[in-house]
Amino acid sequence: MRFETRLLHNGNEIDSFTGASSIPIYQSSTYHQFSIDQPGEFDYARSGNPTRKALEQTITRLEGGCRGYAFASGMAAISTVFLLFSRGDHLIVSQDVYGGTYRVLTKVFDRMGIETTFVDTTDLEQVAAAIRPNTRAIYVETPSNPLLKVTDLRGIVRIAKAYRLRTIVDNTFLTPYFQRPLELGADIVVHSATKFISGHSDVVAGLVVVKDEELAEEIGLLQNAFGAILGVYDSWLVLRGLKTLQARMELSTQSAEKVALWLEQHPDVKRVYYTGLPSHEGYHLQNEQASGHGAVLSFDVGSMEKAKRILSRVRLPIVAVSLGAVESILSYPAMMSHAAMPAEVRNRHGITDGLLRLSVGLENADDLIDDLAAALQEKKVTIPAGFGNL
Ligand SMILES: *Cc1c(COP(=O)(O)O)cnc(C)c1O
Repeated sequence: MRFETRLLHNGNEIDSFTGASSIPIYQSSTYHQFSIDQPGEFDYARSGNPTRKALEQTITRLEGGCRGYAFASGMAAISTVFLLFSRGDHLIVSQDVYGGTYRVLTKVFDRMGIETTFVDTTDLEQVAAAIRPNTRAIYVETPSNPLLKVTDLRGIVRIAKAYRLRTIVDNTFLTPYFQRPLELGADIVVHSATKFISGHSDVVAGLVVVKDEELAEEIGLLQNAFGAILGVYDSWLVLRGLKTLQARMELSTQSAEKVALWLEQHPDVKRVYYTGLPSHEGYHLQNEQASGHGAVLSFDVGSMEKAKRILSRVRLPIVAVSLGAVESILSYPAMMSHAAMPAEVRNRHGITDGLLRLSVGLENADDLIDDLAAALQEKKVTIPAGFGNL
């Protein structure tokens, strides 16, 4: 069955006890054991819950993995994956990784003796050069945030396999609808399900999918031991959001392409970053490893003054952090996601004071373009007719 059909028919859509068309919210922390000698599948809800299980099995099918796990946030999922590693281990991580991932590695796991080298993973030579005898994994995010740089997943997997390293991919921006890293040879996929997977800006959640039984055992133990599980109601919300993933991704990606093309020809826009534009350096690679370009783009308007003017004038996108929702979201990396980065470092990485990131939602694309056009327009001082004659 094709992906969009599997979103709705994957064996986890009907409650096996009642036939309910939506998996019930099993709001229960513990389970009566009808026989003490033959305990049932569920005993305590940190270890397992039928609603969460339906979500975990659904994401497993969609990513083409062996097993899946749901966590209280994307960061809970990512941090739990890092618990696979021990004191003395070394990791290679994409330089422009999500800010929270950078923070947990440099402020928490670093303290516990897990070392990280941040490299530009779009350059495979840099990745290979960073490998040490104690390197255990390569962690990549592609396309990256906010400049949408594309890392060659097959190339990373080739290096990782040669050195017996694990490959971990943050697949938040594209979702399994457009990109399936496990099929390209990765070992673990992580998600902030807060974004496109749930899609409605109404829940914070994280997911992990692993490719084999050995990793399934390890992550399963960590999920239960550390306990950062996704709550039952939130599991239900993610399951509900996931059903429309294909419809949302298709429409918002079509609109993103239209908006990106329009921005690219606008005289006041210095540069547009979108992998769907042939002018983007990752365009061809993205076409080889993913089936679409997603709904996130960035554009540079040249100065903080202009960026702030646009942020204060747009009427359709909400001005906020986050992405991947039914409503468009406009963010300002310099003062939001990358505020902690010194201005000099930010500028060197292309995250300038004029850079805005747009996550395109389900509004009509022409309405979004009209809104951006009005926001971009310099306010003209209109001189009343005849004024010059006074
Ligand atoms: C938001 C995000 C995260 C963190 O997820 P939370 O659900 O906010 O904890 C991780 N990776 C990427 C790419 C993200 O966009």
